[in-house]
Amino acid sequence: MKTAIIGAGAAGCFCAIQLKRRRPDATVDIFEAGRRPLAKVAVTGGGRCNLTNSFEGIRDLREAYPRGDKLMRKVFGVFDHEDTWRWFENEGVKLTLQEDHCVFPTSQDAMEIVRLLMARMRQVGVNIRTSSRVTSVKALLEEYDNVVVTTGGYRSGLFEGLDLEIVPPVPSLFTFNLPGSPVRELMGTVVENASASLAGTRFSASGPLLITHWGMSGPAILKLSSYAARHLAQSGYDATLLVNWTGGDDAGTIRDQLSEMAARNPQRQVANTHPDTIPSRLWTYLVTKSKIREDARWAETGSKGLNRLAETLTNDSYHVKGQSRFKEEFVTCGGVALSNINNKTLECVKHPGLYFAGEVLDVDAITGGFNLQAAWSTGYMAAVSISEK
Ligand SMILES: Cc1cc2nc3c(=O)[nH]c(=O)nc-3n(C[C@H](O)[C@H](O)[C@H](O)COP(=O)(O)OP(=O)(O)OC[C@H]3O[C@@H](n4cnc5c(N)ncnc54)[C@H](O)[C@@H]3O)c2cc1C
Repeated sequence: MKTAIIGAGAAGCFCAIQLKRRRPDATVDIFEAGRRPLAKVAVTGGGRCNLTNSFEGIRDLREAYPRGDKLMRKVFGVFDHEDTWRWFENEGVKLTLQEDHCVFPTSQDAMEIVRLLMARMRQVGVNIRTSSRVTSVKALLEEYDNVVVTTGGYRSGLFEGLDLEIVPPVPSLFTFNLPGSPVRELMGTVVENASASLAGTRFSASGPLLITHWGMSGPAILKLSSYAARHLAQSGYDATLLVNWTGGDDAGTIRDQLSEMAARNPQRQVANTHPDTIPSRLWTYLVTKSKIREDARWAETGSKGLNRLAETLTNDSYHVKGQSRFKEEFVTCGGVALSNINNKTLECVKHPGLYFAGEVLDVDAITGGFNLQAAWSTGYMAAVSISEK
């Protein structure tokens, strides 16, 4: 049995190892366009490789996988995050679970993962051909019994003549540009529990929010960019961002809390009495944005002033125009439509012997190790399907 794998990334290399271990007699050739296999894995997680997540707090897989949650549920039935943890530890990589549920090698070195996968591929006899860009899947299918496409982002041209349904690729996991907004002067300010949403849509996300010199970033914004990736692409990254600096409280609840604060501190300056959760510079900015003088005392704010402040705290509006990369980390939303594949085997419905795994599929996740988990799991499933043929 001869199998070609296109792309020596996380999904391709993991698939190759699993396949050769199940079928030592099989020929497994990986074609890699670049000069080095696993080049992306080497830079994941800022060079530390956030290889999976404990999935704690994820109630519905859609929260982690805005695209492909149903497929991932099936795939995790075969190989999930616990299997990933066990697999890497059995192979000698010690792992650490962080408080934020992200899993890293204890060495905090992505190269440990790269070296391990390279060593295992050598041991089981996978042939890797670097600097070998495949230009036609169709041509390769004539040469091999099975072809697994693990090219990461979708490449047009590769699938010519196969009549596949493709979901147009757009970026996901980016930060928001707020050109001209004075909030950028507060760069470096973090609010640990904010929520961010897009006006006129159902897209919202919460978590830490970071103000940067170009706009807003941090987990809440990255998550929102993932949930709304296609919507934002269609709108040309021109949208109204609404920030609730209090996390989840509504304007009414906050209004009541502000009234209490005003009653307790009538002679204190509003700008000097900030809640613990809002850093003082940001508080001063929000107070002045609510048209309350910086030196005003609580007794002077009046009912209208308190209403305006409650509104700014819970529904603070910004004009987003454009997006930026977050530490060069991004994933592709879109790719090979899931309608093309059998979700129990990852085999193409129209072309027996053709499989897909990893980011080339229309599956992508928020940050936190979920994208690499999808690559390991789908790579594993493709290997099992081929080996059981
Ligand atoms: C900077 C950065 C940091 C990231 N950090 C994390 C993280 O910490 N945790 C996490 O879960 N996710 C992270 N991600 C996302 C994660 O890296 C990807 O989702 C994952 O690597 C996808 O794996 P893959 O095997 O599908 O594709 P890739 O890893 O992209 O591999 C695809 C391979 O195919 C090759 N290729 C493409 N076309 C061809 C062709 N025609 N012929 C031959 N070869 C081809 C490419 O050169 C590449 O080597 C990060 C992404 C980036 C960019």
